[in-house]
Amino acid sequence: MTLIDGRALAAELRARTLATVDTTLAAGSAVTLGAVVATSDPATAWYLRSISSAAEKVGITVRAVLVEPATPDGVLDALDALSADRDVDGIICLTPLPHGLSLAQAGEHIDPAKDVDGANPTSLGRLAAGLPAFAPATAQATIEILRHSGTALVGVEAVVVGRSMVVGKPLALLLLAEHATVTVCHSHTRELAQVTARGDVLVAAAGQAGLIGAGHVKPGAIVIDVGTNPTADGGLVGDVDTAAVESVAGAVTPVPGGVGPVTTALLLGNVARAAASQSG
Ligand code: NAP
Repeated sequence: MTLIDGRALAAELRARTLATVDTTLAAGSAVTLGAVVATSDPATAWYLRSISSAAEKVGITVRAVLVEPATPDGVLDALDALSADRDVDGIICLTPLPHGLSLAQAGEHIDPAKDVDGANPTSLGRLAAGLPAFAPATAQATIEILRHSGTALVGVEAVVVGRSMVVGKPLALLLLAEHATVTVCHSHTRELAQVTARGDVLVAAAGQAGLIGAGHVKPGAIVIDVGTNPTADGGLVGDVDTAAVESVAGAVTPVPGGVGPVTTALLLGNVARAAASQSG
């Protein structure tokens, strides 16, 4: 079984982004990502730090807007302000959000031209209609990893576990656009293992540590582990029991070091593209 190296792919993607950012900087404009944060969750702080350090490597400035107290209106006002700010090229809204505010509601306050993580329902609608739009970076990362590993997608059975607006649904649309035959599973799916074992490509995005074992995987399948589940000792594990599937799968992405770094790299690539199209 091959372990797919997300960090190496992320470094390649960052090199491309750096070139795009350099062109924009040379034209006299800074490239800025606005990030709205309304939580003291350590996992969110960690994610913001990793975005900021990757952004620094490619010349993108991250402007973090901390919403305190964390109220729904505070988040919406912060997103409106960043959307209206001509110096801001891309916007993300980090989760968890204050009680009573969904990501879709927050996303509606992100200017679609700056919606670099596909949070505005308009972006998802445009993806569904086959129109140009930013897809959520995690869904994009899954496709990029599959492409980079040389996985053929035309006509293959692709099974996605999870139907969220940030991962499962947009990923299903992207896989359909690649001509895969797509099945989407969720918490009400009966006989999950029987369904997932049909997948030539299996994507686990449920947020359940160890959900996918050897019995869930078709021999030789490419398994993309999107899940990130914190462990008691401060580590991170995916949704796939990697040791268990080792003898069955053809390839697996590790956690950490798989989908995560590619997601961050693609998010920054989206910011660079948004800046280039807004300055052009
Ligand atoms: P989410 O909104 O909680 O959605 C989880 C999805 O999984 C839901 O559709 C849920 O079904 C389904 N599910 C949960 N338990 C299941 C089970 N036992 N069997 C089948 N389906 C099950 O989570 P999310 O935001 O999509 O994130 C999913 C995971 O990806 C999390 O671990 C998250 O941390 C990770 N993530 C990673 C990245 C990255 O860059 N690496 C980015 C985003 C998210 P229902 O719809 O029926 O509830």
